Amino acid sequence: MHAQATAHTTTTTERGSFALARCSCGWTGPARRSRDRARTDAAEHARTNNA
Ligand SMILES: [Zn+2]
Repeated sequence: MHAQATAHTTTTTERGSFALARCSCGWTGPARRSRDRARTDAAEHARTNNA
């Protein structure tokens, strides 16, 4: 059994005019035109994976 003690800590990074969500687990969200969208991606990822 794989014990998942690692929390999904998400951050947002900017790449040029795009923003994307990143997670401590290695996950990277799609490039978004707005930082708000990237944050939403990060929040959704954390919510679905920390559950
Ligand atoms: Zn993650």
